[in-house]
Amino acid sequence: MTPWRRILIKPKCEKCGQSFETLLGFDSIGTYDDDHYNVGDKVDTNSELMQGERYHSWVSIYCDNCYSEWSFDQFRYAYQVLSNLVQKGRIIVKLGSDILSAEDIDNYVKNYIDEMKNAGWYSAPIGGVFQKLDFIYENQQLYAPSEMWMKFLDEIEPLINEKLKTKGWLSGKNTCRQDYYVVIDQNNRIFIEDSKGDKVFGNKQDEEV
Ligand SMILES: [Zn+2]
Repeated sequence: MTPWRRILIKPKCEKCGQSFETLLGFDSIGTYDDDHYNVGDKVDTNSELMQGERYHSWVSIYCDNCYSEWSFDQFRYAYQVLSNLVQKGRIIVKLGSDILSAEDIDNYVKNYIDEMKNAGWYSAPIGGVFQKLDFIYENQQLYAPSEMWMKFLDEIEPLINEKLKTKGWLSGKNTCRQDYYVVIDQNNRIFIEDSKGDKVFGNKQDEEV
């Protein structure tokens, strides 16, 4: 079961330009079977999807290979930003009882990424990116979640984003687009529209945008 309904589409990857298959998610109020729609499918009248509704959606902007590369880049840049903050004396970073220098952090992340890649990891753990480290930030031990943690994220996230954009990830930290809407036409067929109301992925077979 999945917590949202899904439509199989074949967009072009924002990074490499290749077409890839992916599932666009929408209508997350409920649990649904693992099946998915194709664009143009006739919707079962028992599905509770309604003509005239515009359902909010979300879908990956990257193919699997590019997402993998993006995720390791984001991981690397998070540590680069951390290393810069250490250099500026903005934060103290500890691994166990050791205080890490900027250079220690650079080596730490290099080894960490090498280990993940050697172990065949598809992506880096973005959620717990600093999970093995302890921080002293503005003279306080930093815990997540907390207000101070949010302040720390507010400081580092734009810097990470900037590095991602410089590397050519045009949407920076964003890996998902949310500006498509799912609609059901008067014949109970399911379609996807952009924010202007124009149909995208119009052909059931292989239409691309
Ligand atoms: Zn790609």
